[in-house]
Amino acid sequence: MLKLFINENKINELLQGIQPDKSRVREIIKKSLAKNRLDLEETATLLNVEDKELLAEIFAGAKKLKQDVYGNRIVLFAPLYVGNNCTNDCAYCAFRCSNAEAARITLSDQELKDEIIALEKKGQKRLILVFGEHPTYNGDFIADAVKLAYATKSGPGEIRRVNINAAPLEVAQYKKLKDVGIGTYQIFQETYHRKTYEKVHLSGKKSDFLWRLYGLDRAQQAGLDDVGIGALFGLYNWKFEVMGLLAHTIHLEETFNVGPHTISFPRLQPAQGTDLPKNYFVSDDDFKRLVAILRLSVPYTGMILTARETPELRREVIELGCSQIDAGSRIEMQGYSQDLGEQQLCDKQQFQLGDTRSLDEVMKELVSNGYTPSFCTACYRLGRTGEHFMELAVPGFINEYCTPNAIMTLKEYLEDYATPETNQAGEKAINQNLQKIVSEQLKSDVIARLKRIENGERDICF
Ligand code: SAM
Ligand code: SF4
Repeated sequence: MLKLFINENKINELLQGIQPDKSRVREIIKKSLAKNRLDLEETATLLNVEDKELLAEIFAGAKKLKQDVYGNRIVLFAPLYVGNNCTNDCAYCAFRCSNAEAARITLSDQELKDEIIALEKKGQKRLILVFGEHPTYNGDFIADAVKLAYATKSGPGEIRRVNINAAPLEVAQYKKLKDVGIGTYQIFQETYHRKTYEKVHLSGKKSDFLWRLYGLDRAQQAGLDDVGIGALFGLYNWKFEVMGLLAHTIHLEETFNVGPHTISFPRLQPAQGTDLPKNYFVSDDDFKRLVAILRLSVPYTGMILTARETPELRREVIELGCSQIDAGSRIEMQGYSQDLGEQQLCDKQQFQLGDTRSLDEVMKELVSNGYTPSFCTACYRLGRTGEHFMELAVPGFINEYCTPNAIMTLKEYLEDYATPETNQAGEKAINQNLQKIVSEQLKSDVIARLKRIENGERDICF
């Protein structure tokens, strides 16, 4: 018997009942800055803050926590759509089965290879493979796509980490993915509010709320300890969804001793063949609030901000606690290997993107703004995942491993793919990072490895 871990009554009571007072809010921010996960009552208190001064303290707290835990690193990845056949009828998605306009494509091995090579040629190292929900896209099919991604190389280009965003599977199917070495398995619950869930998931397997809600429990049972959760903001009250994400996190921690590796917070975008009421639309200001409060609630969980948002908003929101972003993304089928015209683009993409800049443009902006973009995949490849990863996510680890590895992968990018302007800005950023390394020993180790990269060696990590 499943114990329902989303207690709607309790969430509503907390959201309706708490009047935040200054000292309590400050106490909660302090607890978070000491890197403790918040509980539901504490998060509800932050969600109910309307006072401008206190809101400013929440934003400042989120920025500080991001700096403390992640430093100036930001991990980059790209989504790759493998197949958009879908038996579900999600009211918000252009790939819903009732959208007859959508061009239905499942990439052949050769087409998938072409996409991967196109991505590698831009410098991408970390992919998330995306699938509709369809009997074809079972464990074997997804595993084959993962194997192909790892096996496809082009010059210095290779994919070092493959994450998955696909339907919830059975335990036996997840095991096949564990065997081929996937990174994170992501499933977004979309909305934790059951009535809304049932309203927007009209038919197909996805209409089973609990099957999806426990999808990542089954992944854990199959030994996949690296999982990602998410909510599609705009379907229901954003404060409720933040509480749902936190309740899900607490459930995974309590059940498997490890919380989600990442939380995603996509915001609903216009999509072909969809026409949803706008009553739960999340404004930019509320979006910033929810990101900052999530950051404070789960200090050690990775937070993913996607290219659904515009460059301007991404600039602001990254600061508030995001650890990963996608860049150079195309979300239409075959979008990396083919240049599609306007109508074809519309028929082949899942929704509209807000940030369509190239990877190089984003890299240039990040290094110019003091960030260290990272393609690092060391932890997962060295087995530092799940519970083990959490143990390591303590002060010191970041300085000794993550920052040096980010510098290494940035250097590789600059050597192999950067435009001259990005290269120049990137070298400057590397030098600034080197100045900040306190240990002389570590600094000289990093410098030695940078030389090895200049001399043609690749994939050197700490
Ligand atoms: N088909 C799988 C599923 O639904 O879980 C995985 C892939 S689906 C293409 C990835 C995510 O895209 C969904 O979980 C949903 O949150 C998001 N999405 C769908 N339609 C969207 C829209 N119109 N705007 C923003 N995000 C959307
Ligand atoms: Fe299919 Fe996923 Fe789109 Fe729903 S969100 S219609 S399951 S691709």
